[in-house]
Amino acid sequence: LPGDPILKNRRRQVEGAFYSYASPTATNTEPSTVAFSPEVAQIIGLDPEECRRPEFAAIFSGNAPVPQGVRPYAQNYGGHQFGMWAGQLGDGRAISLGQAVGPDGLPYELQLKGAGETPYSRMADGRAVMRSSVREFVASEAMHHLGIPTTRALSLVGTGDKVLRDMFYNGNAKYEPGAVVCRVSPSFVRFGTFQLPAMRGGDQLPLVRTLADYVIRHLYPHLEGKADNYAELLREVVRRTASLVAQWQAVGFVHGVGNTDNFSILGETIDYGPYGFLERFDPDFTPNTTDLSGRRYTYRNQTMIGHWNSAQLANAFITGGLLDQATAQEIVDSYADIMTEQYTSRMARKLGLREYRKELAVGLITLMYEDKADFTNTFRAMAAVSADDEPSTVPAALDEALEGLPAERQGAWGKWLDEYRAQLRAEGRSAEERQREQNSANPCYVPRNQVMQEAIREAEAGNFQEVKDLMQVLERPFDEQPGAEKYRVAAPREVRMGVELL
Ligand code: AMP
Ligand code: MG
Ligand code: MG
Repeated sequence: LPGDPILKNRRRQVEGAFYSYASPTATNTEPSTVAFSPEVAQIIGLDPEECRRPEFAAIFSGNAPVPQGVRPYAQNYGGHQFGMWAGQLGDGRAISLGQAVGPDGLPYELQLKGAGETPYSRMADGRAVMRSSVREFVASEAMHHLGIPTTRALSLVGTGDKVLRDMFYNGNAKYEPGAVVCRVSPSFVRFGTFQLPAMRGGDQLPLVRTLADYVIRHLYPHLEGKADNYAELLREVVRRTASLVAQWQAVGFVHGVGNTDNFSILGETIDYGPYGFLERFDPDFTPNTTDLSGRRYTYRNQTMIGHWNSAQLANAFITGGLLDQATAQEIVDSYADIMTEQYTSRMARKLGLREYRKELAVGLITLMYEDKADFTNTFRAMAAVSADDEPSTVPAALDEALEGLPAERQGAWGKWLDEYRAQLRAEGRSAEERQREQNSANPCYVPRNQVMQEAIREAEAGNFQEVKDLMQVLERPFDEQPGAEKYRVAAPREVRMGVELL
């Protein structure tokens, strides 16, 4: 891909290039590795023991002089933010060190988030704070272990420096400890990477095709040389996107900033900012405190946002001369059926049903909404329902998940449970088979906001045991783990939002 001939980090519009060379800025203090993922180290062919060395902290904070042959760079992309074209965005605080080829022979890009300014830093400082870095590190690894496509994280390194941040939720600017996460993915190309040259038009237009050819060659090689390769590329990205969003819905993950620059060409979850997991079920939940009036990125709206973003990617393909309108339209329209199929089959599995029953699924989430039930705990308790329970009874495990159902709500739940039990009897599956399926579809543990907050409070005070304990529990989210009860405690009933922004 064409690179930017200008080597200065000066903030500017970069045309004709998909990246600019940008070196990490050294920190003023000695960095130290707070946590790392041994599994990700192995994926990139690094002995996990290496992660304990001071040299590791130096390199993965961006502090060490880059080794010979390494030329770090920041990527150029644009995007629609909250539905509006925002022009050039780019990696304002992410710098890629390059690619590491793992034992599987595949290249993985290593990207430092928070390692200083780039030409794309605009008004901001290129740094990241411990709070948001802990959130990205923990959540992206948790999502992987939940079986959801995501960028991974190799390491979390404290820089020792102080970073000034405006805390949006209380309006006070304050200094916070800095940190750098090393994100890992085969590629960080986004929908917005295609959009930027398409929206600029003119002599930038050919770059759309250059990028599509690059993405096919390196990331979708099975499409290379095919007659309809651009159509097939779009089809596959739309399919992955629909599938990804269906998986978010099934686990109750709300991304919070579904801008087109935050949608990956690989269909991975990318850019963990003010994300949140549904706790007290509310389809209008958004963890993003800047989206409370617009409510564009709520749980309910994510399915539509995946579709809308796919249409923006298709527009870039059309503008770049890769596809005609009718073909693009047909492919974008396939999103709805894929989403529905993926969502309903996942919901069926959560309920232990062979077949999705809309009236049962909607009935359950309606009850959950009315009782402010905890999304994760309620679904996990569904395996405790038995086809031959006494009619109208609420199993003890479900009652516990509902934190003691009040007497006046027993009737409504009893009625729904009887319908559910009738369906279970009609399907006639063995209880063991059903429960095994449900327990692999309904996690016990997700990174709950209050648990994250506790880990962050400790981390900001220099104690990282809580981050490590949490990571360990989230490595096996579907297995009940003794001593891990505190990670399953539902949020206070009035809690509806997260607190993190940049
Ligand atoms: P996001 O909302 O995280 O997707 O970020 C939107 C844009 O803002 C991207 O271009 C980021 O690189 C940029 N950005 C976010 N935080 C910072 C920061 N602290 N310094 C520089 N750029 C940033
Ligand atoms: Mg982003
Ligand atoms: Mg971000």
